[in-house]
Amino acid sequence: MTRIASHRGGTLEFGDSTPQGFTATAAMALEEVEFDVHPTVDGAIIVHHDPTLEGTTDSRGAIADLTLAEVKSATINYGAGGHPLTLEELCDLYAPSTVDFRCEIKPGVNGRPYQGFVPKVVDELCRHAMLERTGFSSFMLESLDELASAAPGRPRLWLVGPSVLRQVGARGVVELCQAHDIPEIGVHIEMADEQLAATIRDAGIDFGCWAAHSRPQIEKALSLAVKVFTTDRPTLALAIRDAFRRKEATR
Ligand code: FE
Repeated sequence: MTRIASHRGGTLEFGDSTPQGFTATAAMALEEVEFDVHPTVDGAIIVHHDPTLEGTTDSRGAIADLTLAEVKSATINYGAGGHPLTLEELCDLYAPSTVDFRCEIKPGVNGRPYQGFVPKVVDELCRHAMLERTGFSSFMLESLDELASAAPGRPRLWLVGPSVLRQVGARGVVELCQAHDIPEIGVHIEMADEQLAATIRDAGIDFGCWAAHSRPQIEKALSLAVKVFTTDRPTLALAIRDAFRRKEATR
């Protein structure tokens, strides 16, 4: 069964990385909640997409230069007055949920991984008994390498961007996965097709997609039988998957 990951708590339905989006996702009959993490200057871990606040809140600045209190004072656009959550708060929210974590390790404003951040994220998840329910993802091979040593045995998914895929091709992606011991990749839904899926799967690597937000994109992900796809519209994705399953069952 293709798994659904509610991207940033379902951005197109609830706003980007909002408390109500994460709360709603926790009660949904889907498998994963996708979120991104950044450190504050005083050691907290914030669940937010951008490394800065200005894109999606009423505040400004790089999260890594701000204190927890400063980040908490930001109000998220289209978030019904909500403020950014800490990873600790997200763990508490999902402790009673059947939805598991898909934690993306993001770079800072300079596009580079935060120094020493990955072990802190792993420790925080471990402290709240969520590490065993967490799969990780990243566009950065360096962060995936760090995860392999900080959280041995936990799922790691390489997000292969369109420009990387165009540059190295499917064979190049397979070679990089083998060199970095990466068991699973995700590509942008518009880059996915049967041939790419077959090449990746034939190499023993799991194949998934991201950014399946429209009905045709969600139906494409289901038709390709990807392992998992992320979507900004989890409610729509669930309805389409239910209909897809009913159709498959009557075949
Ligand atoms: Fe993400």
